[in-house]
Amino acid sequence: MSESEAEQTGEHASQRTGQSHECRRCGRNQGLVGKYEIYLCRQCFREVAREMGFKKYR
Ligand SMILES: [Zn+2]
Repeated sequence: MSESEAEQTGEHASQRTGQSHECRRCGRNQGLVGKYEIYLCRQCFREVAREMGFKKYR
């Protein structure tokens, strides 16, 4: 259990970089989708949504 805890802490720390909203995938801040707190540009959002859709429908 302690291992997963440490992992979560590391992830949390990496997220707190002090940066404002940027695409978590490519780092762009243009056409950012702030919905659902995903913070992805429209292009990446499309790809991610696609993957999610595929997984959903499978
Ligand atoms: Zn992107």
